[in-house]
Amino acid sequence: MVETKFNSEGKSKAKTWKEALDLLIKGNSDFASGNTTHPERGRETLFAQYLKQFPFAGILSCADSRVVPELVFDVGIGDLFTCRIAGTVLSDAVIGSLEFAIESLGVSLIVVMGHENCGAFRACMNPEHHPNVRGISWQIMPIIEECRSLPGDHLYNSIVANARHVTKQLSSVGPVLSQKVRSGEIKIIPAYHSLSTGIVTFYDI
Ligand SMILES: [Zn+2]
Repeated sequence: MVETKFNSEGKSKAKTWKEALDLLIKGNSDFASGNTTHPERGRETLFAQYLKQFPFAGILSCADSRVVPELVFDVGIGDLFTCRIAGTVLSDAVIGSLEFAIESLGVSLIVVMGHENCGAFRACMNPEHHPNVRGISWQIMPIIEECRSLPGDHLYNSIVANARHVTKQLSSVGPVLSQKVRSGEIKIIPAYHSLSTGIVTFYDI
């Protein structure tokens, strides 16, 4: 076993959701400006954490191959507890996973991150060409319809609206998340990841 600063007595890099958010903002700024440091991604980092993990934030994002939270936030192995599902939608498994991150791992910030040009949303806008999106379209279609009359880009509006909708759902589901959100102990924040700039925009902070 390789001895490093990460071990069973390690700790999260952030004590509060605000500290966690500051780390994500700084890491994304570095990524978007091309000044990434690629921290702690070697096998030694992994080996040193094999007994326990100390992620400082949870990310719910799309399964899209271009959406890689550890890269866009310029963080390393063990920093993020990540759930990726096409369209950034909820399921009982996703909710349970994020509850685990908060209850058992001490995560105090969850980011619900939609992204530019999301294929799941595009597929739901053209379901006749993509019959296999039924598993997620029942959650996305109402959002797409709600945004149809809004000014601006329909796809962008729908993706941001979904991130906000999922954030609201997560903030009120079950005793674990709802009570900790109400008390201010944890924060759940919607965000939008631009693929063309690399910038992640956080909303409703
Ligand atoms: Zn997507």
